[in-house]
Amino acid sequence: MSRAVLRFVTHRITRHPDTDVTFEAEYLPCKWKAEPSLDSAAVDVECMSHTGLSDHRGFRRICTSFAMVVRAE
Ligand SMILES: [Zn+2]
Repeated sequence: MSRAVLRFVTHRITRHPDTDVTFEAEYLPCKWKAEPSLDSAAVDVECMSHTGLSDHRGFRRICTSFAMVVRAE
């Protein structure tokens, strides 16, 4: 009979270094998209401008970040 030796290593997940969070927004029915930006406020302003021009009000917002799993010890 053989025995397996199991060793558990604690990990944690963290934001990947040297990466930024990117913000995007789009209005799906008319396929309008804001310019992706590292500044969420800039994307919000673009959405409000689009509302002013079109009266389109419901936007899909996307926030993208990169994660990395590292050993906790
Ligand atoms: Zn639109």
